[in-house]
Amino acid sequence: MNWTYCGQLKYIVSFVLAAACIVQADIDIARSGEARVVIVLAPDASGKQKSATSDLKKYLEKITGATLDIIGVDDATAGLFPEMSRIFVGDSSVARQLAPQVEWDRLAPDEIVIKSVDGDLIVAGGKPRGTVYAIYTLLQDMIGCRWWAPGAMFIPSDPSLSLPELNIRYAPPFEVRVILGEIAMLPEARSWHRLSFDLSFDTSPRGIPSRILKAEEYYIKHPEWFAYLRDEGSEDEEYTYRYVLKTWKHNALHEPKPNSYDAYVEVLERTRRVYSQPCPHSEGARKTILKALLAEIAAGQGTWNSPQVVWVNQGHGYYMCQCGRCEAVRDKEGSDSGNWVLMANAIAQEVEKVYPDVFVGVSAYWHTEAPPAAVQPRKNVLVYQALYTQNRLDPSRTYAFQSHALKKWASIAKLYVWDFDSNNRNYYQPHPNYFVRGDNMQFFNEIGVDGIMVQGGFGKAADLLALRTWVTAQMLWNPNKNPRKLMIEFLDGYYGAAAPILMEYMEAMVDGAHRNKDQWLGSYEFTTAGWATVRDMNVATRLFDEAAAAVKGDKILSQRVWLARQSIDLSWLDRYDEFKQEAADKGILFLGPPDPSKIIDAVAPYRQTWGRWHIGKPFSAYFDEMKEKFSSTTGN
Ligand SMILES: [Zn+2]
Repeated sequence: MNWTYCGQLKYIVSFVLAAACIVQADIDIARSGEARVVIVLAPDASGKQKSATSDLKKYLEKITGATLDIIGVDDATAGLFPEMSRIFVGDSSVARQLAPQVEWDRLAPDEIVIKSVDGDLIVAGGKPRGTVYAIYTLLQDMIGCRWWAPGAMFIPSDPSLSLPELNIRYAPPFEVRVILGEIAMLPEARSWHRLSFDLSFDTSPRGIPSRILKAEEYYIKHPEWFAYLRDEGSEDEEYTYRYVLKTWKHNALHEPKPNSYDAYVEVLERTRRVYSQPCPHSEGARKTILKALLAEIAAGQGTWNSPQVVWVNQGHGYYMCQCGRCEAVRDKEGSDSGNWVLMANAIAQEVEKVYPDVFVGVSAYWHTEAPPAAVQPRKNVLVYQALYTQNRLDPSRTYAFQSHALKKWASIAKLYVWDFDSNNRNYYQPHPNYFVRGDNMQFFNEIGVDGIMVQGGFGKAADLLALRTWVTAQMLWNPNKNPRKLMIEFLDGYYGAAAPILMEYMEAMVDGAHRNKDQWLGSYEFTTAGWATVRDMNVATRLFDEAAAAVKGDKILSQRVWLARQSIDLSWLDRYDEFKQEAADKGILFLGPPDPSKIIDAVAPYRQTWGRWHIGKPFSAYFDEMKEKFSSTTGN
């Protein structure tokens, strides 16, 4: 068993060797399959704590073969189980009495306490989530259980399981840990992965123009609240006056009648204001937003709840107000974020008077991603930086713009980061950023980022999704871990003998994508065009053949390898003729499927069950497209 759950400053793990004259420090969970502990549930345990406690019982029973009881605090202290050690789950008067040195009332919401006291064990933490995380930390990091993916676990076997003396107190450095994705959003995953499971976390809060300053309500009456477009621009240049005018005139004609666009065009021509973004200095806009936010807080709507955040964020697009005040701030601050932070500050100052614990969130993305030179967000303003425009090929720290922006924002504000892991236009194809996420988590931790949301993949055959989810979740909980070691651990546990071959596959894909030093890997790529050559595809195909051979005879592992292989099989189909031509031109082998319809037949049973393939499309749509594409060549 591996006890090195340290390597980070915040962990305090001590192993006290019991001297012969004092109580033996080890706690026996079972001896030869006979229970040696009872589990004691705190009287005010939440539903989530109760179900986590049931998991603790269930897995300790699976490991030891013993039958364990869950009892109440009164029974535990009445001397009914004199021979047994007690595992006190949750913050209770008994736990507090046994461990008075734990500052119980100062624990962070996600902070855990795992502590041996005189032959008993306390498994508890801050409210509301710490105890739940403590249970899954004990099961995983102290006892060795692994939850790799739905239906894929490793449970050790030890009829005489015992624990050494433990003294752990740990708070994860990221207070919000969210992965948007097919696996990570399952309740089971959120528990085992110690993600922010009970937060109402609006991953993509809507902007002010669509949420509060709605055109139909305010634009005609108060055009001066909205962004001013001084420059003419051109009809072909998005976000300019001429372009907007052309678009709205088009809408006036083509939107179903009656529509408001005739009136909007009149206001636009008269005022040169567009409803797509507010003017952040407009007093009328600020007052209206403040009023709406106070109502949102009172109703508990549209917010994250721990901490509670309400949003003063921009609408979509690069619309920037060109009034004199906005221009002056932009010049001085070097970024439009200066204007937005000034507005957020003014509103946050008022919000604080009524709701001192609520944060006013402002997004940093597109034209506001660069931080302001001098303006400082107030202490109750939270910045949410979306790494939307970043190349995905390498870690954030290697790109000067993002690296600087992240560091600066983290140094002046409470900062949450929206990171991107998947390729949203095709979750299935290889997206060679496999070694990026772990480094990002380390970097975010080094610079003091407070919360993370990772946008990941969906779909049952999404590119190595179980691996990505597991490693990212481990790094979110403890970013001081070594991501490569975690990847190897996952590969060994999930793919068995194929593990080193899959690592070789990922390295080959990453090398392929790095061949061209100007390669841009976006989060919205339709195909592997631009980086994957027929040689890369041949290498990948050979590796998957080897991986399949390595696990031959093992049905479960073979299925997992086959599922991973779909990234390559389907990528052959995406660019089939192109790859054939490339192989012929270069005089090299073509290891793509000789008959593409075989690939289609192989995935046909999953047409309805593989879920999404694209951010807005199901796998069935992709399947039908491929079937149609190859029907003429296969004669179907
Ligand atoms: Zn303005």
